[in-house]
Amino acid sequence: MNYSLKAKLSFSYLLVVILSMLFLSIITNIFLEKHFQKYVKQNQEQKNREIVNVINQHYRDNGQWNIDVMETIGVSALENGLIIKIKDVSGKIIWDATAHNNGMCQRIIEHMAQNSGRRYPYIKGDYTKIPYLVKYQERVVGEVQIGSYGPFYLNDNDLAFINTLNKLLIGVGFLAAVFALVIGGIMAKRLSAPISRVGGAAQMIAKGYFAERITEKSNTKEINQLIITINELAQTLAKQEELRKRLTADVAHELRTPAATLQSHLEAMIDGIWEATPQRLQSCHEEIIRINKMIGDLKKLAQYERDSLVLNKEEFDFFELIKRIINNFEREFLNKKISLELIGQEEMIYGDKDKLSQVIINLLSNALKYTSSAGKVEVSISSSQDKTLQIAIKDNGQGISPEDLPYIFERFYRADKSRNRATGGSGIGLTIVKTIVEAHQGRIEVQSDLQEGSCFIVSLPKQNY
Ligand code: ADP
Repeated sequence: MNYSLKAKLSFSYLLVVILSMLFLSIITNIFLEKHFQKYVKQNQEQKNREIVNVINQHYRDNGQWNIDVMETIGVSALENGLIIKIKDVSGKIIWDATAHNNGMCQRIIEHMAQNSGRRYPYIKGDYTKIPYLVKYQERVVGEVQIGSYGPFYLNDNDLAFINTLNKLLIGVGFLAAVFALVIGGIMAKRLSAPISRVGGAAQMIAKGYFAERITEKSNTKEINQLIITINELAQTLAKQEELRKRLTADVAHELRTPAATLQSHLEAMIDGIWEATPQRLQSCHEEIIRINKMIGDLKKLAQYERDSLVLNKEEFDFFELIKRIINNFEREFLNKKISLELIGQEEMIYGDKDKLSQVIINLLSNALKYTSSAGKVEVSISSSQDKTLQIAIKDNGQGISPEDLPYIFERFYRADKSRNRATGGSGIGLTIVKTIVEAHQGRIEVQSDLQEGSCFIVSLPKQNY
């Protein structure tokens, strides 16, 4: 089931409040109960002792039991909810509250049972009589029994206090819950509103409006990050879309020209307007070669993109590999009178030898293609901190303009939009280079100035298992 952010956030706030209040109530009640029971017991005991002391005092003053005084004390105790019985040493009853007013005594006992039951319904209480001795000149002269309801008896004040406290806790809990709902709602609204707007803009982008950008600013870090990412995504999609359109146009254009030439040449020969001379057939053959080269490049790119995840890694000396490739290129560089120099020494690397040699071949053939005769190309290999290998291929050729520089690694991108036939490029070489380098967890960078030359720097981790 799907819930809105608002509902989820409000519910979480409420849950936190309810749980905290529950926890707080349990802790408070456990602690309070313990101390409260102790206080109630002490209070009761103190009251009992006070009565016994008064009785003791009277006996001491008179040296004998004074029934009238004992009755006064007993009645006043009864009015305060205490049921007492006074006996002399022989067991003879001096004064007994139940004999004096049995009805009232029963009511007091019932009230005690009620109070106790209200607070501790799960504890079965009993009416008990606690005996206290009355002494005169170190002799026991009698006994006072004070009725009590056990294990703990709460008087009305005690009960009122504990109930008020619990009501207070419930009140605070309720207020906190309302607060949580309100704050949760506000927070959720503040969070969900920009997300909804971002979602709306993202939907427009998803529908193909790649020019759409989110201008929303949020003070939530994650939302801002989301906005940046979606904007970047839109930009990438827009670029991809542009490349796709360009690819279609490029492929159509590339294939149309040789196909149209072929068609007209062949038609002229079939109609007998042209004689099928070896030169004319040669020209048709060249066009077919061009078409085939382009199809071959496309196939190669598709294969590299598919295979880029499968690397046949081995340990080898990259310097040695570059030296061999340079040897194979020597003739072509000599023909164009471009000097080619290799700087470096043995550098071991763990990688896919075939794919990495394709990287060097593509970069070197570009340097050869885009450098005019009598130019200079320098290849250098070095390692930094024993972890990364760097290969730089530097030429002093035509260079790349700053507008083209960000796109040269995109497939079919050619800075030379007139598709100079002399270079014969199809805009795929650098895409293949980047795919291979990134599959090795490496990086490729380029520095270039128009008419000054370019420098391609490939960084590769030496040990990448
Ligand atoms: P291409 O087959 O056209 O050479 P690449 O993908 O290898 O395709 O290169 C893409 C574009 O980058 C080229 O068309 C060219 O404009 C530019 N480029 C690549 N290497 C160089 C270089 N060394 N000097 C100048 N421009 C270059």
